Amino acid sequence: MQMNVIDIVHVVNPKASQDDVEEIVWSRTPYPFGMPSAKSFYKEVTRFYRAKKNGIRLCDFCNNIAMTGDIVCNKCDNLLKNGALAER
Ligand SMILES: [Zn+2]
Repeated sequence: MQMNVIDIVHVVNPKASQDDVEEIVWSRTPYPFGMPSAKSFYKEVTRFYRAKKNGIRLCDFCNNIAMTGDIVCNKCDNLLKNGALAER
């Protein structure tokens, strides 16, 4: 039996919403630039729900723990403010 991404998310959380599935696929994996393996996708799904359960927000850019009340982690925040991504 072949499983799709929705099946894998439902293995981890049978009550997963469509929004959860879309956030994991689009924000927590390299898709559409790269296809995660089933194993790495499962790992991201478990990380997503573990973080959600503990009230932790993951960085939108690198998936590390985001700063409190923010969508990015400390490292990405510094890169955005001071690094190569900042306006010159
Ligand atoms: Zn980050």
